This record gives sequence, structure tokens and C-alpha cells, in this order.
Amino acid sequence: MLEKESLQLLFEALDKLELGFQGMPEFNSPYQLESLRTVLLEVATRMQDNFPYPHPLYVGQMLKPPHPIARLAYMLSMWINPNNHALDGGRASTFMEKEAVKEIAQMFGWETFLGHLCGGGTIANLEALWVAGKVKPGLKIVASEQSHYTHERICGVLGLPFAPVKSDCFGRMDLEALETLLKAGDIGTVVVTMGTTATGSVDPLPAILELRSQYHFRIHADAAYGGYFTLANNLTETTRAAYDSLSAVDSIVIDPHKHGLQPYGCGCVIFADPTVGTFYQHECAFTYFTSSELHLGEISLECSRPGASAVALWATQRLLPYTREGEFATEISHCRTAAVALAQKIQADGRFVIPFSPELDILVWTPRAKSASIASQLAKDIFTAAAQKNLHLAIAHLNVELFTDVHPEMEPDQDKVTCLRSCLMKPEHLEWVEDIWQLLEQVTDQVLADK
Ligand SMILES: *Cc1c(COP(=O)(O)O)cnc(C)c1O
Repeated sequence: MLEKESLQLLFEALDKLELGFQGMPEFNSPYQLESLRTVLLEVATRMQDNFPYPHPLYVGQMLKPPHPIARLAYMLSMWINPNNHALDGGRASTFMEKEAVKEIAQMFGWETFLGHLCGGGTIANLEALWVAGKVKPGLKIVASEQSHYTHERICGVLGLPFAPVKSDCFGRMDLEALETLLKAGDIGTVVVTMGTTATGSVDPLPAILELRSQYHFRIHADAAYGGYFTLANNLTETTRAAYDSLSAVDSIVIDPHKHGLQPYGCGCVIFADPTVGTFYQHECAFTYFTSSELHLGEISLECSRPGASAVALWATQRLLPYTREGEFATEISHCRTAAVALAQKIQADGRFVIPFSPELDILVWTPRAKSASIASQLAKDIFTAAAQKNLHLAIAHLNVELFTDVHPEMEPDQDKVTCLRSCLMKPEHLEWVEDIWQLLEQVTDQVLADK
């Protein structure tokens, strides 16, 4: 199940890397290979205690294995272990980070911008909202109730007022609800989610931009999950329009460690207005000496950061550039094709109800039942039975109103209904749709027969 062949390249690359440091006297780091072996094999045993995340039959949470090039480039840079806080700690990897972030900005149509990598989407959103609070002091930040739960918490950390906006039957921000809030006149920033974590719904950015011309708020796009779908060639017209408006927002967050084939620890925040960099100004007595060029630590809230993340991302972009016709874009499109295909099979099967066709590559559905509580129990039973057959789904608790129109017979005897949820985010998933469906069918037969 685990790809190993590419590891051979690491030896050749290490030899090449070493050529850059010729002339340094030899030295040896003390360690005993046999002791390393003992511990490493113990680690391997411990790590068996995981779901099979890299396998296409794992369709549960947002987990996508890094590309072999990302793994290799990350490992290679571990021999240097650069710190992208300052050029003093990571010269090459700082330049690679600047180039990699530029590729991301250009993907969204930005030539001028300010941005950097960071630990992940949460930290990236924290920086974006921190800046939002500086630009619009004292004003509220709003995000849809389907937005990532961390927005509210981040606002708590930053001491900024936060309010949720109702979402509609597609899991998108409800425009009327937003306008009602805007009329109060105390909203500084609207967080627009480009691909919600639960259902992959994309907020109606074009209409929100129209509201901005009237109410003059700032817009932050949380594209942590969905950002790369801007490269897809098979979005619906509505979703495409939202992505095509992205260049008009004030800040964007995207997670290369979600759909960008990177190991965890790679988020990215970019700002349309480079002058927000002045908010980060600080004095540092000990690191900024070797260059008068910008050190990334001067425009980042974090101090030490892994240069390895930048190196891995840079290498991945080199191999798979972010072009609309490229292999990377094709694979992103395939993820959506796979999700739509699976959704059609589920839709066609009378035993399930699906609230809407997937906008991206995440789908949710629930067993057709007389009540929300019965549907929820069946969903949980199918989830468990599927895992026993090596099909790993996820569970989501969604508002029962999502099903009012599509399944009016289901008695809403509880506020939430437990749904099955799948993220078809691996390049292999398109080829596996039929296998996934057959397992799901079998398992459903079995669960329903037991009732
Ligand atoms: C995953 C996600 C986040 C949080 O990002 P992390 O990288 O997990 O910290 C924020 N927003 C959305 C929409 C996400 O999908």
C-alpha cells in the first residue's frame, strides 16, 4: 500500500546537496544505527494504529497523502533544517517560499500582494482576521454558520466581536440574513467560505461583492479547503462565478496541506494590499542581519517556521504547475467528477436522500427514513459496518432543515440529522467510484436486513 520506489532518489539528491558545502571539515554526529533501528521499527508498529488514509477506500475526512515529490523535497531539506523566519536561518528556502506564494497569488489573479506560508488554515485565518481587526477597529466579523468553527474562536482570541450568519439549503451563506445584519452598520468584515468543511459549499461571493459596494465592509475568503478548485474545469456556473470573483477580496487563505499535496504544516495567507505589512512591524535584536532584503519573519505572526514546508511546496509546484490545463488542475477536476458520480448513484438509490449535488468534492447524504432520529441511527450503523468492510466514510451532524425540501416525509424529531459524508479528494478516487459504491450498497443491504 505504501509507495517506496521514489525514496531511491533521495540518496542522489543528498549527494548533490552536499556539493554545496564542499570545503567544510569532516565531522560525525554520534548515533548507533542499531539503536535507531530498534526505535524506528517500534515507531512503525505504533503507526499501524491508523485508518488507511492513503488508500482510495479511505473517503472519510479531509486527508490526502502528500505527493512523493513533496515528501522527498521535505526530507531532503531536513538535512539542512532551514528556518524561514529570517534569511539568516533559511536563505534558499525563503526565496523558494516567496516564489511558491507568488504562484498561489497568481492562481487567484493577483500580481501585487503580500503573503507567506504558515502552520495551517487556522493560523492563516488568525492573521487575516487580525489584520481585518486593525483595518476595521471595533467592528464585527461575520461568517456563515457553516464556516469553520475556528473563526469564532479566533475572534475570541483577538478580542474582536463575532456573529454567525444563517446558511441556506445549499449550505451557503444566506444573503438575506447577511443583509439584515449589515443594516445594523457595525460589520467590518465578512468571511466568505470557498468550500465549507462539512459540505464543500461555496458562499455566493458575486452577490456579497454587490453588497460591499453598498455597505463597505472588508472581505476575507476562507479558501483553506476549496481554494485549488479555482483551477477546476467542471464547476457549475454559480460556483465558477464565485471563484472568478475571488480576486476582488481583501485576503485569501488556502491550505496547500489540504488539496495542494503537501504534508501537514502548510497553510498560506495572502493580502491584496501589501501595505498591511506595516501592522507586523517589530524590532528584532537578534536575527535580521545578513540581508537588507525582506525577512519573512517581518511579515508573519509566527517566528520560527519550517523552511522544509516551503521547499516541498516549491518542488510540487515545479512538477505540477498551477495551470488550468495542467495535470494538477485535471486531478482537482477529477475529484469533483468522482464526487458527482458517487452522488448520482446515491441519489438514484431510493434508500438514500442527498440534499444537493456536491459543489466541490465533498458529499453528504442520509438514509431515507421516517424520522431524523431513525435516519441518524441508520447512518451511524452504515458508517460502522462500512469500516468493517474497509470502506472508511465520515459522519456529519447537519441541520435537519437541509432535508425539508428534498425529503419532506422525514419527521424532524431532532434539530440535527446524522449524515454520511465523503471527501473524494485523491487523484485515484475517480477510478474507485464504482468500488466505493458497491461496498456502500452491500453494507446498506446488510444494515437494513438487520433491522
Ligand atoms: C480545514 C479548514 C480550516 C482550518 O485549517 P487547518 O489547516 O486545519 O488549521 C479553516 N477553514 C476551512 C474552510 C477549512 O476547511
